[in-house]
Amino acid sequence: MRGSPSWGRLPGAEPQWLAIGSRHQALPERASMLPWGNGRSYGDSCRNDGGVLLAAGALDRYIAFDPATGIIEVEAGVQLAAIIALALPHGWFPAVTPGTRWVTVGGCIANDVHGKNHHRAGSFGHHLLDFELLRSDGTVLHCSPTEHRDWFDATIGGLGLTGLIRRARMQLQRVGGPWLRGDSLRFGSLAEFFALSACSEPDYAYTVAWLDCSASGRHRGRGIFLRANHAPATVAGPQQEAAGRALRLPFTPPLSAVNRLSLRAFNTLYFHRPAAQARERLWHYRPFFYPLDAIADWNRLYGPRGFYQYQCVLPAADAETVLDEMLARIAASGLGSFLVVLKTFGAQRSRGLLSFARPGVTLALDFPNRGAATLALLDALDRLTLDAGGAVYPAKDARMSAAAFQQYFPQWQAFARYIDPKFSSSFWRRVTGSTTA
Ligand SMILES: Cc1cc2nc3c(=O)[nH]c(=O)nc-3n(C[C@H](O)[C@H](O)[C@H](O)COP(=O)(O)OP(=O)(O)OC[C@H]3O[C@@H](n4cnc5c(N)ncnc54)[C@H](O)[C@@H]3O)c2cc1C
Repeated sequence: MRGSPSWGRLPGAEPQWLAIGSRHQALPERASMLPWGNGRSYGDSCRNDGGVLLAAGALDRYIAFDPATGIIEVEAGVQLAAIIALALPHGWFPAVTPGTRWVTVGGCIANDVHGKNHHRAGSFGHHLLDFELLRSDGTVLHCSPTEHRDWFDATIGGLGLTGLIRRARMQLQRVGGPWLRGDSLRFGSLAEFFALSACSEPDYAYTVAWLDCSASGRHRGRGIFLRANHAPATVAGPQQEAAGRALRLPFTPPLSAVNRLSLRAFNTLYFHRPAAQARERLWHYRPFFYPLDAIADWNRLYGPRGFYQYQCVLPAADAETVLDEMLARIAASGLGSFLVVLKTFGAQRSRGLLSFARPGVTLALDFPNRGAATLALLDALDRLTLDAGGAVYPAKDARMSAAAFQQYFPQWQAFARYIDPKFSSSFWRRVTGSTTA
């Protein structure tokens, strides 16, 4: 038996697992199936409780890589970590990467993931050249911006529901090497965060901030802003940072280790540590892009009841006021986590019919599962997001209501006609009110 299919480790009914590899030319004859990449989605968009999960990790072959152009073709179960290992020595890096490299190409397409460079590079779908989609009736669709374009757009951000992506071709970005150079800057308020974002985005490919969600009163909205660019090949930082071995949490604590006390203590220390204010510093790409990958299975810190992540995007116009209200409620609740991320999205329109990323500012943070209290807080955050005209990210969600989803993604019915009749997910059943697993 495998562990939980999703990163938040919330309880749910067991699925049946079927491995799909290169030799499979057709999908099994099952009533309810869902592709599964590496389970780095937090909520139930990668779950199919009571149905079948098609574990696509065995679709793990490289097909082609051209070091002259940076175009790579892989099977959809290949992880970004493997692409980096192959391409970085030739001076290429994924054009967009989320905050963990243990994600598959299929998973990155199905959530149209974004990274710290959204304001420059848009999301994952913007760098896809084409992919192959296998439907349960045996049809194979070659999808690109010019061929089966509607299927291309429906599958990008399509939550795995349009069919199994077997292989994909994408454009990597040219980089000098594994190092990044930039600044780490403390800020004292949300207004300062917005000012730093505005002045940094023209010059820096990557911008992101960590927020202290336990701070209240005049400290509310304080945090640390990071901005960086890939450094030239001639630049190298400390070797111990490059070595970066991952630690592993040896066991799941019986209760969440994240509580009001540990949160406040960690956040205060983190904010005041000397490295929080440093100009012209170097980061190896691993701690810069993937700080959480340094602790394997960190998700077990939240104990056996698991945790929720809440990630929303808010239109820029009212973002500061709405964020301030959200932070006030989170600080008052004593819930919330160490890992609070704030980032502005650029104006580039996402490619996918159901893509999450849109212009505005995005806030992401974890909440230990304390049952009704946590759900009530998340519902309150949803009301603020809805009133502001924002949206919640399905890749992170395990609890938003059907009404909220349908308001965040009014195009969901137009999308529904691309769903494979044999495919379903726990998420989709929940947010559309359908019942069949
Ligand atoms: C520490 C951490 C940091 C993260 N940071 C970010 C971030 O910065 N930005 C961001 O956007 N996301 C972020 N995420 C979320 C993560 O990037 C996405 O959830 C991603 O889609 C997970 O990929 P996966 O391969 O694990 O796929 P899974 O989680 O297993 O599946 C995700 C979706 O892809 C579908 N799918 C998987 N394989 C295929 C296939 N072959 N064909 C069709 N559909 C398929 C599944 O059905 C499911 O709907 C983060 C997650 C973690 C744990």
